[in-house]
Amino acid sequence: MILGVLAIIGAVLIGLGLPPWLVAVILALVLLGDLYVHPLKPCGRCSGKGTNKGSRRSAFGKCGKCGGARQVQRLGSRQVHRAVRSLVAARASKKEGKP
Ligand SMILES: [Zn+2]
Repeated sequence: MILGVLAIIGAVLIGLGLPPWLVAVILALVLLGDLYVHPLKPCGRCSGKGTNKGSRRSAFGKCGKCGGARQVQRLGSRQVHRAVRSLVAARASKKEGKP
């Protein structure tokens, strides 16, 4: 779904006459921001139900991929959060260094 939004934003920005490299940078930032704000997505294997395929009302098991959590971490979200954390830590240590 985010890819469709990105395509629309990209088309609008190119239509505004921005250079393609700048559009690519903006789209990358939007994608990273979305990964940061929404690090989880509904599990694809159980389609967000949390149970495995053979489950019925009387007998069910947890989904093997999400373990019944119904959500899985999105690809790259861990890296984005790690990068933001290290940036914040670097900035904090810089501030502490200067009296
Ligand atoms: Zn699942």
